[in-house]
Amino acid sequence: MRRRMTSAKPRIVALIVAAGQGSRAGGEIPKQFRMIAGKAVLAHAYDALMAHGAIDAIHIVLADGQDAVARSLLGDRAASLVTGADSRRGSVQAGLEAIAAAGGANIILVHDAARPFLPGLVVDRLLLALEGAEGAIPALPVADTLVRGTADVMSGGVDRADLYRVQTPQAFRFDTILAAHRGWDERLEATDDAQILRAWGHDVILVQGDERLEKLTYPQDFARAEMQQATPRSTRVGMGYDVHRLAPNEELWLAGILVPHDRGLAGHSDADVALHAIVDAMLGALAEGDIGSHFPPSDAQWRGASSDRFLAYARDRVVARDGRIEHIDLTIICEAPKIGPHRDAMRTRIAEILAVPVDRVSVKATTTERLGFAGRREGIAAQAVATLSLPALS
Ligand code: MG
Repeated sequence: MRRRMTSAKPRIVALIVAAGQGSRAGGEIPKQFRMIAGKAVLAHAYDALMAHGAIDAIHIVLADGQDAVARSLLGDRAASLVTGADSRRGSVQAGLEAIAAAGGANIILVHDAARPFLPGLVVDRLLLALEGAEGAIPALPVADTLVRGTADVMSGGVDRADLYRVQTPQAFRFDTILAAHRGWDERLEATDDAQILRAWGHDVILVQGDERLEKLTYPQDFARAEMQQATPRSTRVGMGYDVHRLAPNEELWLAGILVPHDRGLAGHSDADVALHAIVDAMLGALAEGDIGSHFPPSDAQWRGASSDRFLAYARDRVVARDGRIEHIDLTIICEAPKIGPHRDAMRTRIAEILAVPVDRVSVKATTTERLGFAGRREGIAAQAVATLSLPALS
């Protein structure tokens, strides 16, 4: 009876090539050190490789003198740094020699730092292909029509049927690609390691690449990557409604300003019905209760308190959720006083407390045609709608 053969898990090492200067991407900083969504391109590349559980160690090839900046951008990510050579090929060989000196590997993934968004599925395909080959690379078919041209004049077409765009990581049996590099004629340039393996006499398997692996080359590539990495956000809308009674011998605080009037609002805190409605709208958009649950009317400390602090509190709750206040729309419902003369001061004050531009704050007013409690001047009502932008997963 045959025994099932068990083999030790192969040692898989990744080599990130990050020695380029990347001048086509614009700016002074080499592109592998530029930030996308608050993280260096090199760190994105590292994290994407490490996210694949099969990779045991990462070595990074850098240009001479770049170790300190790379270390600071990598933070506590563990990686062996290797100084590269003048050419990409020479840099890869330097990396392979360093890995050999550190104990070698069974499989090596040679990856460009400028292709930081590596889906794990691509690594799976490469490792599967390597079970029957010495080398495998991700590639995508060419969709665009290709032509030849000289000095901006088209000179002929190209059949694209057998053309592919080559990506990285490129996966190899470690000993084979190291031997192929050592045997390469240094006077020749090679733009990738698959060519070197082929020149050494081995087939290279093509596996399906991924559009997300496209190389960051031009400034617009960085802008696009920044957008794709941005946290998805969702728009939240909340509404608030409040009423307070008008009473003699009270100040009339409305929407954060003192309005001259023969009566004022009575009730919780300074009874600023307009700010209370806005606070409830914001808490509603956050789904975090209402003003009464955060500032109970039974609590003596809020008696006569300025409602500015409640609004500032709601603003802080939004900030704590990494949210943005997109818009506030307030409607004050009363027979008197007239709101029009105070509208701009109210907008300015609300915008000031919320720390948003004044064009994000709308203040409107209406009467009720002398109907109901507002029409009889017994009280003032306010309603508000708050539109917030929050991280979609919060
Ligand atoms: Mg109230």
